Amino acid sequence: MRTLDTDYLVIGSGTAGLAFTDTLITETDAHVTVVDRRGQPGGHWNDAYGFVTLHQPSAFYGVNSLELGSGLKDTQGLNQGLYELASGAEVSAYFQRVMRQRLLPSGRVTYLPMANHLGDGQVESLLSGERTQVRVRRKIVDAHYGGPRVPSTHAPRFEVGPGVRLVPPNALPGLWHGAATQGLPRRFVVLGAGKTAMDTCIWLLQAGAPADTIQWVMPRDSWIINRLGTQPGPEFFRESIGGQADQMEAFAQASSMDDLFLRLEACGALLRIDRTRRPTMFHLATVSEAEVDLLRTLRHVVRLGRVKALEATGMVLEQGREPVEPATLFIDCTASAVDPRPNVPIFQGERIVLQLVRLPLPAFSAALVAYVEAHRDSDEQKNSLCAAVPFPYRMEDYPRSVLVGMANQGRWGQDKALRQWIRESRLDGFGKLLSAVDRQDTEKQAILARLKTQSMAAMANLSRLASAASGA
Ligand SMILES: Cc1cc2nc3c(=O)[nH]c(=O)nc-3n(C[C@H](O)[C@H](O)[C@H](O)COP(=O)(O)OP(=O)(O)OC[C@H]3O[C@@H](n4cnc5c(N)ncnc54)[C@H](O)[C@@H]3O)c2cc1C
Repeated sequence: MRTLDTDYLVIGSGTAGLAFTDTLITETDAHVTVVDRRGQPGGHWNDAYGFVTLHQPSAFYGVNSLELGSGLKDTQGLNQGLYELASGAEVSAYFQRVMRQRLLPSGRVTYLPMANHLGDGQVESLLSGERTQVRVRRKIVDAHYGGPRVPSTHAPRFEVGPGVRLVPPNALPGLWHGAATQGLPRRFVVLGAGKTAMDTCIWLLQAGAPADTIQWVMPRDSWIINRLGTQPGPEFFRESIGGQADQMEAFAQASSMDDLFLRLEACGALLRIDRTRRPTMFHLATVSEAEVDLLRTLRHVVRLGRVKALEATGMVLEQGREPVEPATLFIDCTASAVDPRPNVPIFQGERIVLQLVRLPLPAFSAALVAYVEAHRDSDEQKNSLCAAVPFPYRMEDYPRSVLVGMANQGRWGQDKALRQWIRESRLDGFGKLLSAVDRQDTEKQAILARLKTQSMAAMANLSRLASAASGA
């Protein structure tokens, strides 16, 4: 068997693996081997539907050493006035550039695409079957623990009867191909209630499908993050940093989970599509107000639970049956981007398991873990700076997610070098915004003071809400 020596073996060349590798080779002299069963870097972005974009501005996504996008704002469309969102194709191309222009030219990165990590450093080429034993001097890095499922590579968990036309959203822009053989659909059923389903409904509407031809199967209503609060430019200081202070106030004053989410909506941090319904899901989808307005034009929303079976004339759902018109096209948006996985310690001796240390920023989190790996000594010290933030799979998990993130933030603030690294990191959306505040700018100083006061009050109340949610 071929052998290869390296300091770190990173399994996964998605956002997490590349953001980690980029910071690690910047901060150390280490040699890194990156292995991925996919043929090119970028992870799930390579399988994404054609009209996917980032949820959040490109400005703070990717790896630390290379900007993504132009830094411009959109001047038209549903993201008008807000910072640009890279398309999936742009994200994939960006990660190829990261590999070609940053990682490989360092001379300290070996990239093994189309290769499976079988365990214990053994890697098998998918094309030749050849096995390589990677001899790892320092650590193996699991950079796929938080990887999402996407529609084009998942298997639906419901039955699909004869004559049913079911496609992933990836197929929509190419529907014209099949026009001669299959005919063009005139009715659409969008299955799923997450961000992919929202993107698909928006795409259909913008591409010309009348709203009354779309049925939307929405097992659960969702709270949605208002993208306005994620803008990194100084002109949005009130919305971003002031918005953080508003959220802290909501965390500090909420008397219950319901009250918390209503307060977050009242201060503009969260949105919901149907204001008459109480959402039961919050998976951190981030959307503009204009997009939510467009989604509100859809009237045929099916709220009968999850789909169990599709038939040519109808759908069997958990709570009933719903008829569909003949020649309906079903679009599968049911892949769960956020399958529940337990949090584990990030630093585990000879293993690192990348997870979020700040919600919802996987790129920033992976880069920060690499910085800590490079500059701190014991696992105990590293884990105390990098507690894994639990994803709020259930809404009642949210207070705890925020608490763990805030506790991390507090410890980073007391570590001078780390604090400085964060301030200079392009992946920290608001770091530069905060460090640029002029001492004489009384309005911004007042916002910062409010943020500090409310954050302290928030910690205490979030603990109470988290305990109440866990039944303690
Ligand atoms: C549609 C969509 C939009 C999103 N938008 C945003 C956004 O705007 N901002 C944001 O911060 N996050 C966003 N996210 C969250 C997203 O999950 C992360 O941004 C990130 O892309 C996840 O990267 P990852 O490296 O953890 O996982 P992946 O992209 O899944 O990469 C993991 C890689 O590991 C490889 N792998 C796994 N096991 C093995 C093995 N045994 N051997 C070899 N290779 C292996 C896989 O092939 C894969 O390439 C979005 C997610 C989705 C689905």
